[in-house]
Amino acid sequence: MKIIMLGAPGAGKGTQAKQIADHYSIPHISTGDIFRANIKEGTELGKKAKEYMDKGALVPDELTCDLVMDRISQDDCKNGFVLDGFPRTIPQAEALEKALEAAGQKMDFAIDVDVPDDNIIGRMSGRRACLNCGATYHIISIPPKKEDICDVCGEALVQRDDDKEETVKNRLSVYHEQTQPLINFYQERDILRTVDGTRPMDEVFSAIQAILGA
Ligand code: AMP
Repeated sequence: MKIIMLGAPGAGKGTQAKQIADHYSIPHISTGDIFRANIKEGTELGKKAKEYMDKGALVPDELTCDLVMDRISQDDCKNGFVLDGFPRTIPQAEALEKALEAAGQKMDFAIDVDVPDDNIIGRMSGRRACLNCGATYHIISIPPKKEDICDVCGEALVQRDDDKEETVKNRLSVYHEQTQPLINFYQERDILRTVDGTRPMDEVFSAIQAILGA
């Protein structure tokens, strides 16, 4: 099964993508995670990607497409995969379609996790992270026991640059301009399915399971 997760940044598509990957035993491919791993390792790709990510902008299609095409051609993707954060532009979607067509394949579903902007801004600007151990919190839904202190390692919590309100607003406008057109793109191909991302996480996952079957 080949699945694309669509939805604004902060809609919870990453969490759902992980659950889908576990449940259906297919790889979870997150371009954001791949870029962050490259930044951490200090690779050339990471250095280039960071410039864009810090501003809430998209990494150019040339850098992104090759990376994904290479990943989905690997052996573990034979029985399918779930794409999280890719495609994010029409040229990326076209490149994916072309690459799959060349292999006689096509995507099965594009699942849009739908959450209104106001809700997203609240969710993302309340996020806090521990840069020491990687634990993440939310000031309202998952607060640390002691304000601004990590439960796991006791370090001070911070708000990541890309979770700051200005950056979140910028990422949302990039989403509406460049990624939302994909909703029509996949609707035209009759593989778009929409779930209500404001519901609790387990309900969202049940809705997705009902779409995918089993
Ligand atoms: P994410 O973790 O999916 O929210 O991605 C974090 C950041 O990585 C985005 O704000 C972009 O700067 C970059 N990024 C991730 N996926 C893509 C993509 N498909 N195309 C361009 N940039 C991307």
